[in-house]
Amino acid sequence: MGIDIEKVRAETPGSAGVVHLNNAGASLPPRPVTDSVFAHLELEATIGGYEAAERNATAIARFYGAVAELIGAVPEEIAYVENATRAWDMAFYGIPFQRGDRILTTTSEYASNAIAFHQIAPARGVSVEVVPDDEHGQISLEALATELARGGVRLVAINHIPTHNGLINPAAAVGRLAREAGALYLLDACQSVGQLPVDVREIGCDMLSATGRKFLRGPRGTGFLYVRRDVIPTLEPPFLDLQSADWTTPETYEVHDDARRFETWERFVAGQVGLGVAADYAAAIGIEAIEERVTGLAALLRGELAARPGITLLDRGERRSGVVTFTVEGHDSMAVKLALRERGVNVSATDAAHQRFDPHAVPSAVRASVHYYNTEDELDRLLAALP
Ligand SMILES: *Cc1c(COP(=O)(O)O)cnc(C)c1O
Repeated sequence: MGIDIEKVRAETPGSAGVVHLNNAGASLPPRPVTDSVFAHLELEATIGGYEAAERNATAIARFYGAVAELIGAVPEEIAYVENATRAWDMAFYGIPFQRGDRILTTTSEYASNAIAFHQIAPARGVSVEVVPDDEHGQISLEALATELARGGVRLVAINHIPTHNGLINPAAAVGRLAREAGALYLLDACQSVGQLPVDVREIGCDMLSATGRKFLRGPRGTGFLYVRRDVIPTLEPPFLDLQSADWTTPETYEVHDDARRFETWERFVAGQVGLGVAADYAAAIGIEAIEERVTGLAALLRGELAARPGITLLDRGERRSGVVTFTVEGHDSMAVKLALRERGVNVSATDAAHQRFDPHAVPSAVRASVHYYNTEDELDRLLAALP
């Protein structure tokens, strides 16, 4: 079933004023999301923050159910975290690494995750190894299987969709290999949740992190972490507070045995409400229909770009996402981005510093990321505005 584009655009006030093709940066939120955030802030201002949380308890709690349903988890496996990086950190820094453990990752891994690997590696005596790509540019399953067979792999940590390229990694195939080898599997799903079906049981990941503001169309400053039920007690959170642990005696405490152990007590409550609404909104539109529309628009855009002289498309992968990356000959990508902005078209420019392990990384590229509420006309406006 198709998406009612007129309806979703009417519910996306920003779409009337700007051609927004920076959904991999932050999507334009739909009205029900912003309404729910404003309404909670208003209630806080009117009756008090704690009192507002009590009155709006159902909407606040709905966040857990909405996110769990979207990714095939149960609410106890979901933690509300302020962004995807911290969500990922709460899992990663909670792994009890031992000297000699190996971490396997991919060339397209997010730069913040790479920094964390490099912090932990010397401190804990673990190695970080980048598994090479296959001929399509995604993580090579063959190379991964070979490395896993050598033994000692504690963690496989990859992204589902990178931030700077249109490729989609074969997340479920990686999950099967990691599971067979007895390695933990941490999936950075920041760009995939809200863009295509993500089912944690099907993928077989132990931990998954995502953000609110990208393809989920939630508020900025929100994100979540999923950790599989039986993995939760094996992770020791790097920070604890009264949300994550309870006092048992005046000197001892017990860490919660559900995903609350990864949370903090104080939080952006209005954002939590908004992220729950965003997850329900995506599910109501239909995640399969979203994927079909996003993939279709991105393929159309790649086709048009490929036909233009001077444009080099950079997207790799057998399967491709809504992230379209390219360079324009003779033009700096940052300058292209700014020139497009003046013509009412939002894109972003990638930076090699954000692609730490990628041997194919170019100094800078233009990134146009489409969402289901974008239209063919908007793609034409981008093409017409390019230098
Ligand atoms: C954006 C992004 C992140 C970081 O998300 P934040 O919410 O900014 O912390 C991590 N991984 C990937 C692949 C991303 O695109």
